[in-house]
Amino acid sequence: MSRLKQFLQDSETKAFDLGHRSTIKFNIGKYNAAVERGLTQYSDHELARERASFIKTNAINNLDKYLMEFEANFTARGGKVIWARNAEEALKEIGQIMKRRRAKSVVKSKSMTTEEIHLNDFLEKNGIETVETDLGEYIVQLAEQRPYHIVTPAMHMSKKDIADLFVRKLKIAPTESAEELVATARRLLRDKYTEAEVGITGGNFLLADIGGVAVTENEGNGRLSTAFPKTHIAIVGIEKMLPSVMDLDLFWPLLSTSGTGQQVTIYNTIFTGPRQPREKDGPEEMYVILLDNGRTDLLALPEKREALNCIRCGACLNVCPVYKNIGGHTYESTYSGPIGSVITPHYNGMAENKHLSFASSLCGACTSVCPVKINIHNLLLLNRRQSVEQGFTEKNERTTFKLWLKAMKSRKLLNMAPAGVKNFVLKQVLKDTWSKRREPLKVAPKSFNQLWKERK
Ligand code: SF4
Repeated sequence: MSRLKQFLQDSETKAFDLGHRSTIKFNIGKYNAAVERGLTQYSDHELARERASFIKTNAINNLDKYLMEFEANFTARGGKVIWARNAEEALKEIGQIMKRRRAKSVVKSKSMTTEEIHLNDFLEKNGIETVETDLGEYIVQLAEQRPYHIVTPAMHMSKKDIADLFVRKLKIAPTESAEELVATARRLLRDKYTEAEVGITGGNFLLADIGGVAVTENEGNGRLSTAFPKTHIAIVGIEKMLPSVMDLDLFWPLLSTSGTGQQVTIYNTIFTGPRQPREKDGPEEMYVILLDNGRTDLLALPEKREALNCIRCGACLNVCPVYKNIGGHTYESTYSGPIGSVITPHYNGMAENKHLSFASSLCGACTSVCPVKINIHNLLLLNRRQSVEQGFTEKNERTTFKLWLKAMKSRKLLNMAPAGVKNFVLKQVLKDTWSKRREPLKVAPKSFNQLWKERK
């Protein structure tokens, strides 16, 4: 089945799944209330968004310079930088590190770039146990699913769903207590941190001036994943660049407020390399894998490169009426929702993914909440245009528009059939699409041309 057909089928199933709808409504309702509270910390949120947009645009426009600066500063403290053009290169390098460290197990903190390169599958195929240590990621790993959302991976599951999953997979006694569920996960994860040879994280920001990787999290699992293992690998998309550590005073609260409604996330760590001579803990070696994987293709398109400004807060997903109805898994991509629909065709191929850019009402809600002011709905339109220009349209769609254009340009053709015949044709043509759940489209009983003639 083509990705488009699968998408349409899954969208339809999910949109009528009332259980899914009520879980999402409940969880996004809590998010909305938290964001409302979080925003009260700003005297001028709009100004903060403007500044963030300016800084990110500068970082992306000068990415070559900042990446080199980052590399020089990070390697000066003993860190190693690996440049990966695509997922294969990143996985090959990670495989070599694993072999050198004779790694049998890995602890991971939440990272969408590792999802993007399908790291867990790769490690498992190589006989390496991979443990997700973020609670939401741990839950979806247990459920053998992909993350549903870029910030809250298990957003689609209710407390009861998670309790049932733990009973089934971890053989615990049935419980309704969220605290007990958290305690179970924590107990099971503790030993994993000390056993693992390698800890893997993503990175929320790359800091050029100090050669740092900033990681934001709420559970402390990121710090534990990097404190015990002898090797730390951070896999970070090259677009995560900020010119200076001083920019974090703006970006940390913006990310937290838009992401979860917090004023600032609980644990914010800056990694600047492996353990230094007089330091007591931390890894013996640290690698940063700078992942391209389609990002420079997007960078090469000046009118669309602002998509690289994204700080992955997830706010655009939470307000999107399409996302809330069809759910995160339906997109079948690492990055879902509005920003996922913008970048996925560039990262994974326009031909297979262009339909995502059409799955939008273009209401602009995404653009209105984006903390870095990305004009998301405009980028969706630009993707649509590119896909049409590149010829990625269905044959019947092309034929329909050809006929439509011909008719619209010819008064004779438009006047040829009475309204009843036109309505019949419209009904037949649109029966599986527009009219499936709507009143059929009908033309007016008399055309403007007829009315004009009668008037005279
Ligand atoms: S596009 Fe904007 S709102 Fe959406 S995830 Fe990125 S930063 Fe957040």
